[in-house]
Amino acid sequence: MSQDAITTATLGVPRIGRKRELKFALESCWSGKSDETALLDTAQKLRAENWKEQQAHGIARIPSNDFSLYDHVLDTAVMVGAIPARYGWDGGPVSLDTYFAMARGRQGDDAARGCCGVTGASALEMTKWFDTNYHYMVPELTADQTFALTSKKPVEHFLEAKALGIHTRPVLLGPVTFLKLAKPVGGDFDTLALLPTLLPVYEELLKALAKAGADWVQVDEPCLVLDLDAGEQQALVSAYAQLGEAVPGLKIMLATYFGALGDNLDCALNLAVDGLHVDLIRAPEQLDAVAATARKGQVLSLGILDGRNIWRADLAAIRDRIAPVIEARGANLIELAPSCSMLHVPIDLDLETQLDADLKSWLAFASQKMGELSVLGRAFGGRAPEVADALSDASRAIAARAASSKVNDPAVQARAAAVDASQMQRKNAYTVRAATQHARLRLPAFPTTTIGSFPQTSEVRKARAANARGDLSDADYKSFIERETEGAIRWQEGAGLDVLVHGEFERNDMVQYFGEKLSGFAFTKHAWVQSYGSRYVRPPIIFGDVSRPEAMTVAWWKYAQSLTEKPVKGMLTGPVTILNWSFVRNDMTRADVCCQIALAIRDEVIDLEEAGAAIIQIDEAALREGLPLRKSDWKSYLDWAIRSFRLTASGVGDETQIHTHMCYSEFNDIIDAVAAMDADVISIETSRSRMELLDAFKSFKYPNEIGPGVYDIHSPRVPGVDEMADLLVHARKRLSDDQLWVNPDCGLKTRKWDEVKPAIANMVAAARSLRQRA
Ligand code: GLN
Ligand code: ZN
Repeated sequence: MSQDAITTATLGVPRIGRKRELKFALESCWSGKSDETALLDTAQKLRAENWKEQQAHGIARIPSNDFSLYDHVLDTAVMVGAIPARYGWDGGPVSLDTYFAMARGRQGDDAARGCCGVTGASALEMTKWFDTNYHYMVPELTADQTFALTSKKPVEHFLEAKALGIHTRPVLLGPVTFLKLAKPVGGDFDTLALLPTLLPVYEELLKALAKAGADWVQVDEPCLVLDLDAGEQQALVSAYAQLGEAVPGLKIMLATYFGALGDNLDCALNLAVDGLHVDLIRAPEQLDAVAATARKGQVLSLGILDGRNIWRADLAAIRDRIAPVIEARGANLIELAPSCSMLHVPIDLDLETQLDADLKSWLAFASQKMGELSVLGRAFGGRAPEVADALSDASRAIAARAASSKVNDPAVQARAAAVDASQMQRKNAYTVRAATQHARLRLPAFPTTTIGSFPQTSEVRKARAANARGDLSDADYKSFIERETEGAIRWQEGAGLDVLVHGEFERNDMVQYFGEKLSGFAFTKHAWVQSYGSRYVRPPIIFGDVSRPEAMTVAWWKYAQSLTEKPVKGMLTGPVTILNWSFVRNDMTRADVCCQIALAIRDEVIDLEEAGAAIIQIDEAALREGLPLRKSDWKSYLDWAIRSFRLTASGVGDETQIHTHMCYSEFNDIIDAVAAMDADVISIETSRSRMELLDAFKSFKYPNEIGPGVYDIHSPRVPGVDEMADLLVHARKRLSDDQLWVNPDCGLKTRKWDEVKPAIANMVAAARSLRQRA
């Protein structure tokens, strides 16, 4: 074997800056506090910092054009000139104003700032990037769409790095994935039909990159891990037949990630590209098949570090696993890389000065992963002593983590191992329960309620921040929250709502609030990850066995219920949502972690029942987002997700009504699973899709009660009584009257009181008008 290091590569690094510099620069520019030059300056500094850091780690293939001011899919749309007419683009270079209008919408009244007399324009839609918690802007394409190379950002960034003496590998979003992610507008058509029109733009760009001095480009086609039909596979074949030949001497590393190539393996390996990157974290089993069938001379990039999670890697184990492949193919045909772009992990663990030292020694963020990569790259040739040390350090940390009492709680493990089917089963079937519950609750027809949270005003947030800083005592904070809660209860009574909520004023976030009270969770100070644009999140870290040391919500519920005769819902976040919005330990299956969380929340459900709650809502906002990318994996996910929900909910008696809430309207394909959750009442989003989702209930008779949202809480608009009544009339065509609840689409925390109050008044009036008509 060669004594040389193996080539190392990253596919992309976080863009936001260690101190969230990008966010602050964006927001300052948007608010007019600073100008575009200041923003572009910050962006350039961040890029330089990223390149230099990777260079310092000795990474051989350093990406460029992985940076974006807002989103890389939006950048691609702009690059190829796919700019919808409503933005008034004149065909020249795309201004930042237009770019941000596509990202965030343009208000009608500040149209004066925009060019060409354009008035308000809504933003592009936003949706989840594969199964990550990153959201991209959905490009809009028309059937007669034309494309033109409109931005040369990839070339500019390549040259910018070159000027710093750093030779980079530009990253492009591949044309097939781009078209597949785009949405057809002005009539339904297959966006892939636009491929022949789009490819010349990519060709032109590749030529420009080669001319600027690039020898490799990374082209991302993560669509290769999805279920593809023959037409889609053919699109990939023809795209790369054309692009692979486009520029002699310019090599393409085709990057796939987020899953196994599976039945697209042959297709992927036969594309006319020089290298193929595969995700060996999500799909370690594909290593042998890929290595065995790769073409002669083709470079394989092995995604062996987790680009989606934050755990330190077992470097010696990785080395041993890939050694035979390197031996067989030759070191010069192998690259080592994270599984995907490190966009999905925080930047630097060193910033976490307050994290438990043991936990910290088990983690690796993007900077630390670069270090790991560099060690792995040098782990095959002559063994430098520092490499050997790094390998054994990593092994020691992994062993310490596995044995740690901070991770292992024998009582939790025993309890989870003993879970049996009877704990996932309510005592009686819904019809029996419903009779008991209705007798207890005595609600009117079409009962009205809300989803849980009320506006988190700046006073509420300020009080929480002051309490965290120590400027507001716990006692004063508590009485402040009590006053807010009391105000909310009084207002709800006055508004005539039937089932009340306490308002969630004490909660910072529906997952964090619970994570902070559960054992096995840790929180960071600086570990931000981009969710979309300038919105970043700090997901909780589930590092150990999960349990609930004490009740988390009972006191607040009791307080709220003490103020009123009307039922107040207990309000909890469900186990699947907590799991899907956290960094999850990788030494157990997600299903097993979820089961532990379910047991902890189950304890809270039982305590709320004991305290007297007649209704308990368990939110599963993120259940659908967790669906695997491949249809064939759905069943197994849904099986354990639904089991976890049922385990959480089934500890109560018939007379306790369990609600759940889900934040979306696409239900048709998982309606059986949703019904299998066996919640007594479910509330869902429907108002934006004008109850289209209720199509799901045409062929499937949903057995329990359901509140299809009639108030779109995503908009400041106050819907009228008739409008909401119409939606309900529509819902009655699919659902029987005794099934139907009346509620908004989701929680109201992002709205203002002066929107919420009239909207809820109208909603109650709509329910009353329905009662009269019934
Ligand atoms: N109870 C939560 C709230 O109202 C639910 C939010 C959600 O599902 N996203 O805020
Ligand atoms: Zn919701």
